[in-house]
Amino acid sequence: MDVVIGLEVHVQLKTKSKIFCTCSAEYTKDVPPNTHICEVCTGQPGALPGFNRKVLEYGILLALATRGKINPVIRFERKNYFYPDLPKSYQISQYRAPLSLGGFIELKSGKKIRLERIHMEEDAGKLIHVAGETFIDFNRAGVPLLEIVTKPDISSPEEAVEFLMLLRETVRYLGISDGDMEEGSLRCDANISVKPEGQKELGTKVEIKNINSFKFVKRALEFEIERQAELLREGGKVVQETRLFNESKGITESMRTKEEAHDYRYFPDPDLVPIEITEDLIEEVKKGLVELPIEKYRRFIRDYGLTEERANILKSDLYLANFFEETVKKIGQPEKVANWLTVEITGISRELGIELKDSKLTPERFSSLLGLLFEGRISRAVAKKLLKRIYETGEDPLEIVEKEGLTQSEGGLEPMVQKILETHSEQVKQYCKGKEKLISFFIGQAMRETRGTADPVELKKLFEEKLKDACKSMD
Ligand SMILES: [Zn+2]
Repeated sequence: MDVVIGLEVHVQLKTKSKIFCTCSAEYTKDVPPNTHICEVCTGQPGALPGFNRKVLEYGILLALATRGKINPVIRFERKNYFYPDLPKSYQISQYRAPLSLGGFIELKSGKKIRLERIHMEEDAGKLIHVAGETFIDFNRAGVPLLEIVTKPDISSPEEAVEFLMLLRETVRYLGISDGDMEEGSLRCDANISVKPEGQKELGTKVEIKNINSFKFVKRALEFEIERQAELLREGGKVVQETRLFNESKGITESMRTKEEAHDYRYFPDPDLVPIEITEDLIEEVKKGLVELPIEKYRRFIRDYGLTEERANILKSDLYLANFFEETVKKIGQPEKVANWLTVEITGISRELGIELKDSKLTPERFSSLLGLLFEGRISRAVAKKLLKRIYETGEDPLEIVEKEGLTQSEGGLEPMVQKILETHSEQVKQYCKGKEKLISFFIGQAMRETRGTADPVELKKLFEEKLKDACKSMD
């Protein structure tokens, strides 16, 4: 079966104020309900909206980053429907003259997922259901959204997830949204249909609404593909409908069929004048463009010789990516630096529950620590211990190492290993005769010598190498 998927993604913009009034756009749990509201965002009769230009700038920025064609004149329209969280009974959105048309997001494979359009609109309020009662919080009403609609270019759940990840990274890189799916600042609806392999005509599409995590996007799509494919294999028909993903059961369930679909009766909002988007404005906004995540990913592989996996982890977070580059600028060794960042630092961050950007570790401290390690002045084990400590305290690694005498002898562990083998020639002979357990004896000697600061794994490797040579010369 061929799978055809199109996505509609809502991205909440992190402007200070709402899209059509000056209320604060903050609506987190810490904000008491219905405190960031006014007559505009609660739809009082006679209240007039005024447009927040910052929303336009953020929208243009994303349109430029995705190579969309920006409309020279845009307009807001009323999308009419009734719902308790929508006090005006219409949502101010865009329809016939949206912000931009076309553009694309390129996946790592080079495949381009084309965009249909990007438009601006307002968010609705929030219904809160508690013990059989329903409350409404309008703090979220009027928070600015960008809706990004793709063409049906996505052919698997994996591609859908990759697209969403890249979109999230892009809005974060641009600084226009938190892109947090679990927090609701990035929300996704998916249109999906399947058809027998090679068939030109598209199958009947089903819409899955409000999927709120990357994991659920994948699971909802996988379930839906299987459900539709099985229907077709058994000679049945897919019904055009809207479905919801039931997270606890891991299945999609019917919400409404086509007959119940809305006719939104869009018409231009008479309270908001059409907006001309000048070349000057576009040029001004263009200054905020940055290297895109996919470009950074390719550059990291090309210029630093990183593996795809490492480059992917580093590019997923702009702070991490910059941290990597600043460290490499100081001490080179991109592969080793990437390894320490993606393995050790990620581990420490998880263990302590402190993100790198909130830690005390700076690229200066990090590179000076790695410098000590690469020069062989401290062991790997000591470096690991110190890294965790500096991550929390921000101390200077050089000072700690000197003050606490953590350096190992000149030239690293090798001379010491050599010396231990020379002073224990009897044990070396026995080892060569097959008593391989003696390796622990040698490591033990070395650990005593270094007061436990050496890395046993490193020591084992060194001893094995040296012993191999020693045994050869005995033959
Ligand atoms: Zn307001």
